[in-house]
Amino acid sequence: MESSQKHWNPAVETMSRDKLRDLQSERLIQQVQRVYENSPFFREFYDAAKVKPSDIRSIDDISKLPIMGKDDLRDFRAKSGDPFCGTLCVPVADLIKIHKSTGTSGTPNTFGLNQADWDQATENFARMLWRTGIRPGFRTNNWLEAAMTWHGYSMTAWGARKIGATVFTLEPDNRSVVQTNLELLAGADLNAIFIYHPEIEVGYIRQKQIKPKEIHPNLQFIYSAFLCTDARRRILEEAWQVPYKNMGASGDQYIPCSECEYSAPAHHYLEDQFYVETVDSDSLERLPDGEEGELVLTNLWAEANPLLRYRMEDVVRINRDPCECGSTHARVTYRGRYAWSVKVRDRRIFSDDVENVIWSKPETEFAAYQLVKSKTQPQEVLKVKTTVLGENRPGLESELAAELSESLGVPAEVKIVDLTEIAVGTVKFVRVTTEE
Ligand SMILES: [Zn+2]
Repeated sequence: MESSQKHWNPAVETMSRDKLRDLQSERLIQQVQRVYENSPFFREFYDAAKVKPSDIRSIDDISKLPIMGKDDLRDFRAKSGDPFCGTLCVPVADLIKIHKSTGTSGTPNTFGLNQADWDQATENFARMLWRTGIRPGFRTNNWLEAAMTWHGYSMTAWGARKIGATVFTLEPDNRSVVQTNLELLAGADLNAIFIYHPEIEVGYIRQKQIKPKEIHPNLQFIYSAFLCTDARRRILEEAWQVPYKNMGASGDQYIPCSECEYSAPAHHYLEDQFYVETVDSDSLERLPDGEEGELVLTNLWAEANPLLRYRMEDVVRINRDPCECGSTHARVTYRGRYAWSVKVRDRRIFSDDVENVIWSKPETEFAAYQLVKSKTQPQEVLKVKTTVLGENRPGLESELAAELSESLGVPAEVKIVDLTEIAVGTVKFVRVTTEE
């Protein structure tokens, strides 16, 4: 594989939209048959909606399938006792990997892959990582492969290996992640650093006045998967002194997506592998491309545990126009997560909206913060708790409140709190807390 090549799989990446649709149709028909014949959950779900595999003749028929969410899976699990929520389409004995979702919005669900799924998933991740800039002979890091094998992190490590990169998976033992990346790996001459907890890493770099390129002279970029606000990107690139490349993935279905050099902040999806669409989150009616709505994904490749028309609980916009990079696959722009939003009067405010304001002030740049959600929605006032990394001073709360209010068009209150008052999830700060 030539390093100068733009795409990992050019034939698929640049195929015409007509050919892509044919491929999607063929794969959707196969997936609907697969789940209907093998998954107790889907058989019951489709029978209740009075839809049969024979109703699906092309990708245009996808809207005949009912939309499913995490609650449907949990309900099925509760009544069946099946940790796979009735969605497994192969015998358990065929699974070579079993993992759980992150459980960001509730109890995690269990998923599995057979050998063919593993091969295809690592291929998909290689495609995503090539777009990110990983090349043969690159040296990169991914300690999370060792620490959190249940997440897409191990897929990210194996995708990089497929490209021909070397992945350092040293665990951080009692050091912080950033110490491991920057100091334990000194001399490893990393070309790309996978970052994990950006707030802590940037704090460490600043405090120790570290120049990452003095430790890793051939460092070309840093990469990770976040909801990436403009403020976050700016802060990361200032601290690390190299470009930040963003990706996205889901622990549920191994859904890799990443920005190309032209698409940022939008991510390219692999449309031959996943069908993407947006729906109105109340009516579940499909929305036209370009309109903001909830992302719904259909897995067109997995044999063991595919989910079809699965609500991702993210608000996005889809653009299927060809991209300057040559890819014909959709670009998806993230607006925020439903779980991380509050409704204030008639406006939905996402954590990213708040982040862009809070992180633009020196005292609260990169500070951990939380939106406080009232039990009844909508609420009258936007309430935000934030920590202060710089110097706290009188009047800071009301200044932040005024800036939030002006930027977001709703009344706002800000309370400065200690870090112990901000809830931390398994892998990230929880951005919304519900008021008692
Ligand atoms: Zn592109």
